[in-house]
Amino acid sequence: MEELWHFIGGRRVEGKSGRFSEAYEPMTGAAISRVPLASRDEVREAIADAAAAQREWAAVNPQRRARVLMKFVDIVGREKERLAAILAREHGKTLADAQGEIQRGVEVAEFCIGVPHLMKGEFTDSAAAGLDVYSMRQPLGVVAGITPFNFPVMIPMWKFAPAIACGNSFILKPSERDPGAPLFLAELMLEAGLPPGVLNVVNGDKEAVDALLEDPEVKAIGFVGSTPVAEYVYSHGAAHGKRVQCFGGAKNHMVIMPDADMDQAVDALVGAAYGSGGERCMAISVAVPVGEATADALVARLEPRVENLRVGPSTDPSADFGPLITRAHLERVKDYVALGVQEGAKLRVDGRGFKMQGYENGFYMGGCLFDEVRPEMRIYKEEIFGPVLSVVRARGFDEALSLANDHEYGNGVAIYTRDGDAAREFAARVEVGMVGVNVPIPTPLAYYTFGGWKRSMFGDLNQHGPDAIRFYTKTKTVASRWPGGVRTGASFVMPTLS
Ligand code: NAD
Repeated sequence: MEELWHFIGGRRVEGKSGRFSEAYEPMTGAAISRVPLASRDEVREAIADAAAAQREWAAVNPQRRARVLMKFVDIVGREKERLAAILAREHGKTLADAQGEIQRGVEVAEFCIGVPHLMKGEFTDSAAAGLDVYSMRQPLGVVAGITPFNFPVMIPMWKFAPAIACGNSFILKPSERDPGAPLFLAELMLEAGLPPGVLNVVNGDKEAVDALLEDPEVKAIGFVGSTPVAEYVYSHGAAHGKRVQCFGGAKNHMVIMPDADMDQAVDALVGAAYGSGGERCMAISVAVPVGEATADALVARLEPRVENLRVGPSTDPSADFGPLITRAHLERVKDYVALGVQEGAKLRVDGRGFKMQGYENGFYMGGCLFDEVRPEMRIYKEEIFGPVLSVVRARGFDEALSLANDHEYGNGVAIYTRDGDAAREFAARVEVGMVGVNVPIPTPLAYYTFGGWKRSMFGDLNQHGPDAIRFYTKTKTVASRWPGGVRTGASFVMPTLS
């Protein structure tokens, strides 16, 4: 088993706390690395190092900062295969899926190359006689990101690329379940010309997170993970005076209207529900066919497709999806399937017994399909985060819309229809942050922003796109008048410019 490290001040630093967790190779079930869990003192060292590096980094002009990202994008292109191999090995997703994840991360780094333009302030010439007003965006200082296991490359890049482009230094606390790829990314940023200390990686668990949340020198926290932890990080971070944005769990619905192209809808559903084993915050986990005839047709077509899904090791190019992240998570997902049966839902496809020949200790299960799921059931209310799709039958458009609106999560949603009016009304009225119209996983592109509503997001500014520049900078507004322009004496009334 390899012992991993922290990455501080541009070099690998051995863990000193004496505490470790294990990371696995889900396709074989083997423990492959010992992950050091940082103590408060180790986190403090990383923060102090990042603070010292930030002062010089903020003084580097934005075009030069952008050039580091340009080079980074090139280097990631060169290292794509190696990065995908590390990612897929630790996470379990297929290599093709890993490549897709890397691409979606790179696109945010590409967006951030525009930082000289994105950070520009405003200017008003002669707001009053001889008085100019302008605003500027300045970096916050040291900021931190706490990221989940399911996108160990993309989400760290969504966070550190804009933060660093804006002149901050960044401390990444990746998931302790697959930290190999994020550690590699930090080395690639160094190779791209980033000064040591501007991107530090500390591995750890709650102790490291609390140290980041409570340290006065950390000015902002970006979190992605499950909702209970998101809520904790949001309130605890805010209580310590930080700017915080936290993205949480999801239960994404896909509404299938009676006029939908059923072949297209079924293809979309199978990919969006079972891709990456359902371990995506934008996975569709609830299908809502409208009308009994639509529901019967949908389930009849889905059943054989789910039975025939190809589950395999991440290295198998013909696999639709791979194993789940850990044995504990696999058991949790299987427990949810048992619960669904107990709750009275109809289990049409049961993938719990799936065994991968030659990989008997891997964390595999096949796809599961439930029909006749009811809104009061826990399998509907809670996020399962596995290859399990629930069909909830709705009588009409309004009932389908209410299902999505009444659910506590509001990350992504989709509607399949040929009716432009229905689609338009759905997009306008649905209480969800990201909406697809005949698009199953409406993950916004890098130059838009990403974020859910309700209990899928705590905070106000979204991830990536223009919101990221706002999140990672503070605005300063300057009113300036030069001595030659001062022609009156002191004024004691509230200044107005008109
Ligand atoms: P998680 O909440 O278990 O962990 C996320 C991060 O928080 C990790 O770095 C972990 O070390 C840390 N953490 C865990 N428990 C903590 C605690 N008690 N105190 C402080 N820190 C703690 O999430 P996960 O299992 O790694 O990721 C899956 C979850 O992330 C799912 O709920 C998924 O929907 C969500 N997710 C959301 C988005 C989004 O954009 N909304 C994107 C990806 C994943």
